[in-house]
Amino acid sequence: MRPKFIVDTNVGRLARWLRMMGYDALFINEIDDRQLVAIGLKEKRVVLTRDTQIMQRRVVTSGKLKALLVRGDDTKDQLRQVVKAMNLDCEQRQFTLCLECNQPLVRRRKEEVKDLVPPYVFQTQSRYVECPSCHRIYWRGTHWQRMKRELETLMEEAEE
Ligand SMILES: [Zn+2]
Repeated sequence: MRPKFIVDTNVGRLARWLRMMGYDALFINEIDDRQLVAIGLKEKRVVLTRDTQIMQRRVVTSGKLKALLVRGDDTKDQLRQVVKAMNLDCEQRQFTLCLECNQPLVRRRKEEVKDLVPPYVFQTQSRYVECPSCHRIYWRGTHWQRMKRELETLMEEAEE
């Protein structure tokens, strides 16, 4: 089963990358440790944190709540660490979740997005997905491709 995550505020930037790879990564602003732990337990999420105090909690040391202590300040180093430690798959479900809301994206027919995307995009792209929560439309444009390339580079480095 694919792990689900809850990302602590001190490693919040990991959430977007995990979502990009299709991993459910919950991120809540201004959450305290107690809430973080409670949600992790309730929703069986792996806690990603830089907070050593969380790692020392009995619920974590006993193995009841899975948590990973993330090291370093660089988001990409952090992501490499998480991918390795959790043996994540970066390919299969890329761009299936909204990067902002963590919601599964829904396929949209081209005609449905005609008035929602720039004319140039409409002319050149045929596949679209929409977030049911924020209604952002995603397509395989340059931004998508750039993120995909970054992810590929990252994963090559992780394998070294
Ligand atoms: Zn969204």
